[in-house]
This record gives sequence, structure tokens and C-alpha cells, in this order.
Amino acid sequence: MDIMEQINNENMNIADKIYIFDTTLRDGEQTPGVALTVDDKIQIAQKLNNMGVDKIEVGFPASSDGEVESARQIKSMDLDSTLVGLARSLKSDIDAVIDSDLDYIHTFIGTSPLHRDYKLKKSKDQIIDSAVSAVEYAKDHGLTVEFSAEDATRTEKDFLFDVFSAVSDAKVDFIDVPDTVGVLTPKDTRLLIGDVVKTFNIPISVHFHNDFGLATANTLTAIECGANQAHVTVNGLGERTGNCSLEELVMTLKVAYGIDLGLDTTRLYSLSNLVGRLTGVKMPVNKPIVGDNAFTHESGIHVHGILNNSFTYEPMSPEMVGHSRRIVLGKHTGANSLRSKLKEYHIDLNEKQFENVLSQIKSLGDSGKIVTDDDLVAIAITELSSARETPVVITGMSISMGANVSPTATVKLEIDGVEKETASTGVGPIDASLNAIRHLLQEDIDMELEEYNLQAINGGTDALAEVFVITSDSHGNRSTGRSTNQDIVMASILAVLDSINKLLIIQRAL
Ligand code: MN
Repeated sequence: MDIMEQINNENMNIADKIYIFDTTLRDGEQTPGVALTVDDKIQIAQKLNNMGVDKIEVGFPASSDGEVESARQIKSMDLDSTLVGLARSLKSDIDAVIDSDLDYIHTFIGTSPLHRDYKLKKSKDQIIDSAVSAVEYAKDHGLTVEFSAEDATRTEKDFLFDVFSAVSDAKVDFIDVPDTVGVLTPKDTRLLIGDVVKTFNIPISVHFHNDFGLATANTLTAIECGANQAHVTVNGLGERTGNCSLEELVMTLKVAYGIDLGLDTTRLYSLSNLVGRLTGVKMPVNKPIVGDNAFTHESGIHVHGILNNSFTYEPMSPEMVGHSRRIVLGKHTGANSLRSKLKEYHIDLNEKQFENVLSQIKSLGDSGKIVTDDDLVAIAITELSSARETPVVITGMSISMGANVSPTATVKLEIDGVEKETASTGVGPIDASLNAIRHLLQEDIDMELEEYNLQAINGGTDALAEVFVITSDSHGNRSTGRSTNQDIVMASILAVLDSINKLLIIQRAL
């Protein structure tokens, strides 16, 4: 018996059914700097539904008309997941949830002394009255009601239990225990949730924040103690440092606890990417489950083990979460592994070219970078075409702009020696120019602009602009391009052309 089985044999009180309540579209949207459009919310809701999450909190309808609109539109998609709307314990907020056509409400009121005295300015009795009235009003309108005692973990325990008793008497359907500022430890979680589960004969939910990096650990502890539901977000998004992460919780339950919630976990990685792209919050490379490095190994002893049996250095397979394993090159790369990699891609180099590629990989490695297969192919192919071809060259460009009209860019390109010209409009001069380039290339060249990044290098109106882009083609080839110029439009055009020329070299060599 290994240690994991021994742990699993400890006496735990795990509920028969554990509900996943995803709040990416509500708490996740409260991540500083994040705002989702109706269309973004629809895309994310669809993916959450396809994965099989039980409940999706779609928003806070009382906060804006857009929230009501997105809730209605998601509702009209007729998903299997139950859709939830957030409301303060106020009649007007509850009405907004009803107006959104939702039939499950998550209503809350602050219960801690801090929230009572500094935010709500209400006595304990008034708090209980508001909570009970809200639950009764929502139940009278036929809603399923989940009640949260906001800042529960900094509320006097007696009072917290009084509040929960009162809403239980009002026939609430779920009691939620939020750790609003993430102060719980696993030990405190065990005491509190164990007690709540024992005391109340109602399904118990937890909503834990990650201020000390404990949201997932605390949520697992709550589940061990009998909690019936976990609030989670994709990528652990949410206020401040976020909430318990969907992918961490689901995979820990599956792999370490042997509990399969019935979710299609192979969709986790693509869901994480979609949410990262739509929110603009990229995951660090070392983010568990979905980070770039979650299944990445650098040449050496680990790779040798991995190739024989991947479980030597991985706790689960990348396929389980829809991720992929990467063997990367770096400072530890030897000539042999480079030769086998090149062979894999059918790239033949002479000795001199081989030495140059190896030394480029080692120097990238020395500067702390990893070299992916894509990078290797790009480096090797650029080395192959030693006289760097530039199939696409810009030969002319003009932009006209004014008030109340769209900017128009006229761009002239030489593509494989043939000159072509066109004009396009756009939301701004960069967009217009890139539209014109796209238009000129679309017949001849298979490419798509995947990423565009603009940065001012120093302050001032004459600052140098640095543009970094990634282009890709339909075969999955990718290449990067970079340009620095005092004119942001030129910097953008040159970076895109740099990338396209590299992509063409790769396409033509393979
Ligand atoms: Mn929260």
C-alpha cells in the first residue's frame, strides 16, 4: 500500500455528490482589470457547460443592464448547467435576477463585525431580518436560493450560526460559507466546516479566496469534512489573488482522492486558454495543471525517465487535461538530443550549420530561456537559409486620417518580386495598415496574426515603440517577429513582415 492509499483510508466524511459552482463569470470578472463582453461570457459559459460543471454563476444582474442582457442570452442557450445570478439581500437586486430569467439566486449579506459596522451599519438583528426577508422573497418567486454570509470566516461563530439557522428556517436551499478575504487555514477550515455540516441539515457550499495561496487546500479540506459544493473559477481568477481554481480542485479530487466528478477534464487546458485570452490574464508558466511548464521537461535525466515511463516525473498525464508534454532544449542539451530532434523534423544541417544551431540553443539556455520545438525549427531553418530571403517587402505606405472618418491605409508590398497595392480602413492607423497587409497576402500566403504586443520603450511622444508579434499558419507553424521604430505604425508593419518572412521560410523548407 503506498502512502496515498493510506491517506485515502483515513476516516473522511465526503458527500455522495459534490457540486461544482463556477463563478468565473462573476467573481472571476471582478479580477482587477477584467471586463467581459456579453459575447465573451457566452463563449465561456458554453465551454463550462460542455465540460459538465453543475452551476455557472453568470453575473450580478443588479449591477448593470449588460449583466441582465448576458444572463438572458446565456439562459436562452438552454444549457445543461444551472445558471445562477448574484444579488445582495435587497428586493431590487432579487428583482434584477428574476428579470434576467434565472431561476437560481445566490444572495448574500455581510455578517462580520467589520461588514456590519463599517459597510452596512446594521445591527445583528437587522442583518438577520434582511437575510431572512431576502430568502423568503426569492423563495416566494419560485427561485432556488443559495445564501452566503459574506466574510463568514471573520464573523463571531455564535452569530454566524444564528444567521444560518434563521435562513434554514426560511427554507434556503444551500448555505454558502465564504472566506471573503482568504484568511482560513486547513486546520480552521476543518473545525468550522465540520461544525457547520454537523449542525445544519442543508447542503453546504464553500467560497474560498486565495490570499495566502490556500484556497484549493482549504476547499479540499471542506470537502473532506462533508461540504457538498465548491465555488471555483477557471485559472483561479477572482478578486485580488482570486478564488479556488477549477482545474486544481477537479484534478486533485480525481488524481489524489480518486473522486471523479464526471467532468470532461480533457477540456481544462483549452478552457484555461480561452479564459486567459478573453480576460487578458495570462497564467504564469508554473501554474499547476494548465501552466506552460506543467508537462515540460528539459533534456537530461528527467527526459530519459519520461521517455521510458511518463509517471517517473509526472503525477498525471497531460492528455487527462488536454495539455501536451513538451521536451525542450536548453543549456543542458547535448549534440545527441539535438541530432535526434532535427531528425524528427527532417532537417538536414551540415556540420557548420549544426554547430551554429547548437551554440544558439546553448546561449538561449544560458540566458534562462527554454527552446521549444517551434523555436528549434525556426532557428534551424533560418540557419539553413543563410542568405535570409525576404519574400515580402514593403515598398510604399500612406495613411489618411481625420475627424469622424475611419483612418485609411494604403500599402504597397512586393511579394516574391510582384508588386501589389491596396487600401483598407480600420479602427486606427495600425489596424488599417495591418488590414491592408492581410488583404494583400490573403490570396498567396497562409497566415494569421496570432498575437500583437506594443510597448513604448521610454517615455515621451518620440518614444521608441517596440512591437512583438506571432503569426501562424493552418499547419500549426508559428514564427515571431519584432521591430523597433519611432513610428508605431511602421514598427507594427515591420514586425508583422519580419514574422511573415520567417513563416514563409519555414513553410517553404518543410
Ligand atoms: Mn468572492
